Order: sequence, then C-alpha cells, then structure tokens
Amino acid sequence: MTMDTPISQYIIFVVISGVLSVLLAIYAYNNKNKFTGMKVFMWSTILSAVYTFAFAFELASDSLSEIRFWLNIEYLGMPFISPLSLLLIMIYVGIEKFNTFKKSWVFFIIPFITLLMVTTNEYHHLFYKDLFLNPHIEKPMVDVIPGLWYYVHGSYTSGSMFASLFLLYRYWRKTKSIYRKQMITLAIGIMLPMLGALAYVLGITPLGMDPVPILMCITSTLYVTSIFSTSLLTVAPIAREHIFESMRDGVLVLNLENQIMDFNGAAAKIIPALTPETIGQKLDHIWKRGAETGAFSVGSDEALDHEEELKWVRGGETFYYRIRSSRLLKSNGQLAGRTIVMIDVTEHTLLQHKLRYLAEIDGLTSIYNRTFFMEKSRELLAAAHQSQAPLCFILFDIDHFKQINDRYGHSVGDFALKHIVMICQQFLPEHALLGRYGGEEFAISLPSTTLEQAGQTAELLRAEIAANPLYSSAKAITITASFGVTQARTADIPLEMLLSEADIALYRSKHTGRNAVHLSNNGSIHAFQQK
Ligand code: GH3
Ligand code: MG
Ligand code: MG
Repeated sequence: MTMDTPISQYIIFVVISGVLSVLLAIYAYNNKNKFTGMKVFMWSTILSAVYTFAFAFELASDSLSEIRFWLNIEYLGMPFISPLSLLLIMIYVGIEKFNTFKKSWVFFIIPFITLLMVTTNEYHHLFYKDLFLNPHIEKPMVDVIPGLWYYVHGSYTSGSMFASLFLLYRYWRKTKSIYRKQMITLAIGIMLPMLGALAYVLGITPLGMDPVPILMCITSTLYVTSIFSTSLLTVAPIAREHIFESMRDGVLVLNLENQIMDFNGAAAKIIPALTPETIGQKLDHIWKRGAETGAFSVGSDEALDHEEELKWVRGGETFYYRIRSSRLLKSNGQLAGRTIVMIDVTEHTLLQHKLRYLAEIDGLTSIYNRTFFMEKSRELLAAAHQSQAPLCFILFDIDHFKQINDRYGHSVGDFALKHIVMICQQFLPEHALLGRYGGEEFAISLPSTTLEQAGQTAELLRAEIAANPLYSSAKAITITASFGVTQARTADIPLEMLLSEADIALYRSKHTGRNAVHLSNNGSIHAFQQK
C-alpha cells in the first residue's frame, strides 16, 4: 500500500485523531480530581482512542478476517462513547445523580450488549445480517447489511446525543454569557459526529467512507483548545454555578439601574414571576407582578446594605422571608449593583409565634394568662404614671363555682368559664385588658378610666353575667360573680399592691352576699352605688 492514495491520507487523519484522544486522556487523567466529570471525560477519550486506532487498522486491513478482528476492537470503545458524553453533559449541567459508576451502570447495558452482539455475530447475525468486501473498489473495504441490533445500537447512540443536546439547550436558557462559549463548544462537539453519521447513513460521504472517526478528531481538537482557552470542565465556574443554583435561599443580582442580572432557582420559586425572560427587566416591574400573587415589596431602592423581614401570602399560605440587600462592589471599590438574598424563615417565625402564644395565652379561655396580664398591666401602670391618666383594675371571682363543678361536672365548669369570658369580651371597652388571674378568677385593666367609670363597668358585667345563664343540656344554669375595683393613684404603688386592694374589695362583695361590686378608694371599701 502506497502513502499517496486517498485511503492512506485518510488513515493518517484517523491516526492523528487517535493520538489526540490519547493526549486528551492523559490530560484528563492528570486533572481528574479538579472536577467530577473529568473521570467520565477521561474514559470517553480512552475509548475514543481505542475506536479510532482500531478503525485505522481496519482501513489498513487486507482481508475480511482482519477487518472483522478490528471491527470487534472498535466496538470495544465506540458504543460506550455517546452514553459517556451524555453523563458528562449531565454533570456539566448539574445533574449529579449519576456521577459514579455504581449509579450510572444502566447507561452501559445496551453498549455492552452491542459489544457482545458484534463479537458473537457469526452465531446469530443479529448485528450484521451480512458483512462482505465491497466488490466495487479495489482496496478491501467492508459493506454491511444491518441486523436488528444494529438499529438498537444506532438509536441508542443518537438518542444519547439528542438527550445531551436537549440538556444543553435547557441549561443554555438560564446560564450566563461567560459560560456560553463553553456550551457552544460542547454542542458542536456533540453534533459533529452525529451529522457525520447521518451523512454516512445517507451515503453522501466521499468513497462511502465512515467520516465519524475524522469528525471525532475535530471534536477532540475543539475540546482540547476549549480546555486550554476557556478552562472548560475545570472546577471553579461549574462549582460557582452549582452552589448558586443549589442554595436554599433565593438570590437576585441587580445592576445600578435595578435591572435583574441574575437569579437562582430558589428565587424563582419564591417569586414565580421570575423567568429567564425577565433578565434585564426592572426589579419594580417583577415586584409588581409578584404583588398580584401576594404582597411583596422591598423597602428601599438605594443600594445600601439593609435587612428586613417580610410577610408574604402566596396561594393562601403565609410565608415569612428575611430579605437582605447588600451592595455589590467592583474590584476597584466602585458600586456595581446589589444582591438581594431571600431567606425563608417561615418555620422559624411560625414557631416563634406559637411559643409566644403558648407563653401569653390561657389555653382554656384564649385570653391572656396571669403572667402576661401582669406584664402588660405593669406597662399600662408606667404609662399612666407618665401621662397622669387614670387607670383602674377589676378583679372578679365566680360565686360557688365548686357547686357548678360538683353538680354538672368539670367540663360544664370549663364551659362556664368560656361563657363568662364571652360576656366580658362583649361588654368591655376595646382598650380593656382581660386576663385569667386564677382558676375562676379574672382580672381587668382599664386605662383612662376613673374609679366611678370602672365601677360602672364592673356593675355592667355583674348584671350581664347574672342575666345570661349558661345553657347546658337544655338546663339554664345561672352564674353570678363578685367584683372588687380599685384605682391606680399617682403615688408609686406597685401593681401587686393595687390588685390586693381589689381583692379585698372582692372579698367584701363575697361576704355581703356575693353577686355584688365593691370599690376600694385609697384603701377604704364601699359598695358600688348606681347614680
Ligand atoms: P366562692 O363563691 O367562695 O368563690 O365559691 P367557689 O366555689 O367559687 O370557691 P373557690 O373560688 O375557692 O373555688 C374555685 C373552684 O374552681 C375550685 C376549682 O375546682 C374550680 N376550678 C378552678 N379552675 C378550674 C377550671 O379550669 N375548670 C373547672 N371546671 N373548675 C375549676
Ligand atoms: Mg369562686
Ligand atoms: Mg376562687
């Protein structure tokens, strides 16, 4: 065989392609820990080299049996390359599910069967129905009549390629322009062998030769130049992108004009109006669209660092977000824009609310418990001293409550407590503070109220309680209560002292026959008289 026939030149190209694949494999091996995809890339280049060299030997073969031998070697590599490319792209776009062999072996079932089919073809002819020397050319080259598995293999290979392209396309729409060069390189790398294979199948290649190994040489060259020029497949940009995307917190990047420059998946979940098309739009516009599904507004427009907490109702559910806005500075210290980080604190906030509720509210009657009533009343007392406004306290205790429990049962007793609270809530002024002071004892703080007015309020409650019996299994249970009222005076008398004055007045009501109101005026006690 001389070196000036087209076939010999073709063989030279194929060998160069193989050498390039080997170099790439060495590069990948040396950098295999920089990026998870490097091992996959290394295997795909090793198998490319096997395929390409075997193909060169096939072209140089002089007999059908030699050709058969090298075909078997080719299939040791070739069927595995496109699923490996697919895995590589998956890792590149952040699908990490299949990044070890243990998890990705399913991808290699069909290629492995293909290898078996090719090597055992003479027993079943499922891969090649027939394999013979092309009678029309002088140089020994094979023609094949494809069998069933040949098509399975072809479909699987092109299916993997299309899947890779689809993943790249999907990723393209949401990626930043600096990485797009890498993606174009990858896409061309995937498409070239595909187009070559198509041309081969359509029979439009020169001399009817398979151009795929040559195109793989170009693909490899693309990868090599890309690895050196744009550091394709090195760890940093992918990691940065990956961290940005996998964050649980929503992140928005804005320029100085408040236009959206970037956002991550979590941000799009929080603000459904964020789509790839909104990149470049003003933030206010998106905010307004966001407001259609729930109220959402970020405080200030100026690019200052600040933090606030937002309540956002979305689809009937309430969410709480901590919004942190930070300045984004260029390396020379100039303002470039700002980032907005949205942290979902719903769970935390709801737990806080629940704890606060448990700490402040009485479980049976849903009014303030004693501790919280005291705390709030102390605040009212301090405010009253400040403003010199009057402040009164009422204590009342249900009469013969033990009998209600004894006669009708504890649950009716509980119900009676709620019944009393309902009456109080109905007749107390809005600014009054009602608390459960003890078992069946209640306390009321009345700001801006004189002793006389507080006496009237107590009298109103007494009369309403007495006039509104509790209905339990069609039985009317009349309930009454005894009241004591006192007034905070300008002197600095502590709350406990004032309440004990009210308590003394209350006991006067009990001792004078119950269902009554007594006032304590500077410690002297007298019955309330309606004027
Ligand atoms: P008095 O007119 O002198 O106040 O008579 P009384 O029976 O109301 O006496 P006292 O105030 O000493 O009794 C309070 C009773 O209230 C004792 C307790 O069993 C009952 N009690 C306290 N807390 C609850 C409660 O949460 N539910 C029910 N059903 N009963 C309660
Ligand atoms: Mg009682
Ligand atoms: Mg009592």
